[in-house]
Amino acid sequence: MKPRRSVVIGVILVALVAVLSILAWQLPPRVERLFNRVIDKPPYAVSARARTSHDGLFVADLHADTLLWDRDLLERAEYGHLDLPRLRQANVGLQVFSAVTKVPKDLNYEANAADTDSITLLTMAQLWPPPTWGSLLERALYQAHKLRRFVDRSQGGLMLVTDAPSLERMLSRHDSPDQTVGALLALEGAHALEGKLENLDRLYDAGYRMIGLVHLFDNRVGGSGQGTDKAGLTAFGRALVQRIEAKPMILDLAHSSDRLIDDVLTIVTGPLISSHTGVRGTCDHRRNLSDEHLQAISSSGGIIGIGFFEHAVCGTRVEDIVKALRYSADLVGAEYLALGSDFDGAVTTPFDVTGLPRLTEALQAAGFSEVEIVGIMGGNVLRFLRRFFAGSD
Ligand SMILES: [Zn+2]
Repeated sequence: MKPRRSVVIGVILVALVAVLSILAWQLPPRVERLFNRVIDKPPYAVSARARTSHDGLFVADLHADTLLWDRDLLERAEYGHLDLPRLRQANVGLQVFSAVTKVPKDLNYEANAADTDSITLLTMAQLWPPPTWGSLLERALYQAHKLRRFVDRSQGGLMLVTDAPSLERMLSRHDSPDQTVGALLALEGAHALEGKLENLDRLYDAGYRMIGLVHLFDNRVGGSGQGTDKAGLTAFGRALVQRIEAKPMILDLAHSSDRLIDDVLTIVTGPLISSHTGVRGTCDHRRNLSDEHLQAISSSGGIIGIGFFEHAVCGTRVEDIVKALRYSADLVGAEYLALGSDFDGAVTTPFDVTGLPRLTEALQAAGFSEVEIVGIMGGNVLRFLRRFFAGSD
């Protein structure tokens, strides 16, 4: 190659990298601002009674997609739904961080085909490592890596919970001036296994402890409530469910089709979770749990996390969340309920995480007892995790 030509190519390459870097710096916050919205902006005023009660709680949330976005979890942001400073302000003790690896284009809540993906562009725009551009497994592993890096840099502020000892360590440090927040890693959709059961071991080794079988489209495991076929478990899905049950990994039924939930219920013996869902009793959509499935999940000794978004509770007010909790508590008991916000999951919520005292206040106003509020706001998740990890020793 002639020297002049290589200089020209070099200049073009430098310009290209510069443009990409500017895009990567400018674009993700703009994109995120569009997707992760709140109805009311902070600060959120609550009564003295609600504040005192909230500050005495152990607060846990079963679902946030924060790892998808290009934000430093350790810095307070003016947009998005949560970061470590805001989690601490909200007195959150445990946050489940879920990894999204594929989302169909032209998303709808009825029937999504699996042949398109909008995450590919996001991984490139955010300059994720090139292996993540074409591999769902790599996207999951990279998000686990991102979380571990945040934990390492947080100087005890954030701690990965993977077993009974780390859960207890986190709890003792949460009550200290460190105000440590526990992080539990979850996968949103087993398509990230790329059809290989042995990839479950890689995800386990990376820190994953909760596996959602499907997300917004049907995959090799089975049907999504928002997929095209709404089918049950495939042979691969059955094998995967058994493999998840053999590990200390929690099985999450959020997004599963009715038939998929039925099939899972016939083969599992352990407790099940639906991490972020609504209930058809207050929001009749196939994305949400039927009375029968609410009862089956609670009878398994499981937990149902109620979402904070429109399609879960048919509204965006805190009262809509409380209505779903009231209905579910009347049907199965408040001890099986939890928060499943879907913060940072490309949804609009009534508030960001610092607004959680408003939920405590609304639960009080709706006549929930203090014991029920302690459970719903996080106590039930804590009890569940303690039993789960103790049972899998
Ligand atoms: Zn979801």
